[in-house]
Amino acid sequence: MEQLLEELLAASRPYTKEGRLADYIPELSKADPNALGIYVVSSDGKHSWAGSYNQPFTIQSIVKPILLLLALMDNGIDAVRARVGVEATGKPFDAINTSEQALDSEHLNPMVNMGAIVMCTLIRGETYQERFARLLDLTRKLADNPDITVDEAVYRSEKSHGSKNRALAYLLKTYGFLQDDVEEVLDCYFRACSIRVDCRDLAHIAAVLANRGRAPGSDERIFPARFAQYVNAILLTCGMYDGSGEFAIRVGLPAKSGVGGGIMAAVPTRMGIGIFSPALDRKGNSVAGIHLLEQLSQRLFLSIF
Ligand code: GLU
Repeated sequence: MEQLLEELLAASRPYTKEGRLADYIPELSKADPNALGIYVVSSDGKHSWAGSYNQPFTIQSIVKPILLLLALMDNGIDAVRARVGVEATGKPFDAINTSEQALDSEHLNPMVNMGAIVMCTLIRGETYQERFARLLDLTRKLADNPDITVDEAVYRSEKSHGSKNRALAYLLKTYGFLQDDVEEVLDCYFRACSIRVDCRDLAHIAAVLANRGRAPGSDERIFPARFAQYVNAILLTCGMYDGSGEFAIRVGLPAKSGVGGGIMAAVPTRMGIGIFSPALDRKGNSVAGIHLLEQLSQRLFLSIF
């Protein structure tokens, strides 16, 4: 496996030149555009890696499935589904999903910002600090890494350049999707996006999703199998922003990308994959990362179709 990963990584490296670093949050533009790493955790607990697999980066939108999981664990499927729909928006992550008509839960999706901001209000906690602390705990547990923390510089940068997210949150408030103080809710969201991870962490989280809620190589159940089905189905249709359809054809796996350059992909029953390469295409997906996943999917017949 290591040899295959090294080979595919070398073949994908030229694609790092075809993307651009995210710069709408200034701190993200400090990443190394040439970095490329991959980590694989198989369902029986075997680990393999190549390249910059241990370089830290912020989780960004890849926290959305974890927010969704925690909301499901706290409220059950029906309550979450009643607040936020599951249909693909076909629009960018920070799109304003509304027209002149009133905002409807069916216009929201947990993998885009408006839906994810609502998820912050659904998870339990007396305060938004407590809600975030519970989210961080779950992230550490899914990643099997108690040392995961927040990148404070990215968090501050998110918070001071978050006008679009503020606009989305006030819109949600106008339509009754959010009762609490907008700044408090967004503080939880900004912190969530700024959680620092590496490829191993993402691979481990994806392996739990691939294993339908069980930690790889162990019998420990972290969440019920039906939540994995719910999350994986939404990842398949909406995990790669408005590039999810093409990704389903090229790679064929439930996956989530983030503007920090990460991609996590779950291969049901088989493995979790974590990738990092921060040069992005116009839709916000890692160019070399998708190429690497596509090659791996073809070589190991990973597509679920
Ligand atoms: N922090 C980002 C935002 O909401 C997350 C974006 C992403 O990774 O898609 O602006």
